[in-house]
Amino acid sequence: MRLVLLGPPGAGKGTQAEKLSKEYKIPHISTGNILRQAVKLNTPVGIKANSYMTKGELVPDKIVIEIVAERLKEPDSKNGFILDGFPRTKQQAESLDSMLKSVNMPLDAVIYFHTTDQVVISRLTGRRVCKKCGANFHIKNIPPKKAGVCDFCNSVLTQREDDKEDTIKNRLNVYKNETAELIDYYKKSSMLKTVSGDLDINEAYQVLVKALKNDSIKV
Ligand code: AMP
Repeated sequence: MRLVLLGPPGAGKGTQAEKLSKEYKIPHISTGNILRQAVKLNTPVGIKANSYMTKGELVPDKIVIEIVAERLKEPDSKNGFILDGFPRTKQQAESLDSMLKSVNMPLDAVIYFHTTDQVVISRLTGRRVCKKCGANFHIKNIPPKKAGVCDFCNSVLTQREDDKEDTIKNRLNVYKNETAELIDYYKKSSMLKTVSGDLDINEAYQVLVKALKNDSIKV
């Protein structure tokens, strides 16, 4: 199964991608996660990407397309993949199309998580992450057992720099100006399925799995 998850930041793409990845045993490829790791390790890509990311701007297409092209060459992508946060521009979408066409592995579906600015702001301002193991929490919706401490590795939870309210507003504007047009792009190829991003995690997952099964997508 080859999927793209599309939608604004905070719509639940990452959470659902994790669940799908476990269920279908295919990699969850998040360009945001790959870039954050590069920043953490201070690699040349990380150094270039950091200033865009902290402002909530998009990292230049060339850098991100290269990352995805390399990642899709890894053996674990051969059985399928879930792309989360890529593509985010028309140029990225067109590059993805030609990458997949050249290896005769077209996308099976694009899932669009539809939600409102209000839901996004409340989800992202409350999000807390563990820098050590990468687990995600939310101060109200998914609280850790002990406030401020990761359930899995006991490390201190932090707020992502780009989850501060002003940066979230900028990320939403960037989404509307640069990414939202991809909804029409994929509608044209009749690949698009819309799922409400306002549902709770398990409900959204049930709807998602049903939508994928109804379409008899090969898994
Ligand atoms: P995310 O975790 O998907 O919200 O991504 C965090 C940040 O990484 C974004 O705000 C961008 O700065 C950068 N980023 C992630 N994916 C892309 C992409 N496909 N194109 C450009 N920038 C990206």
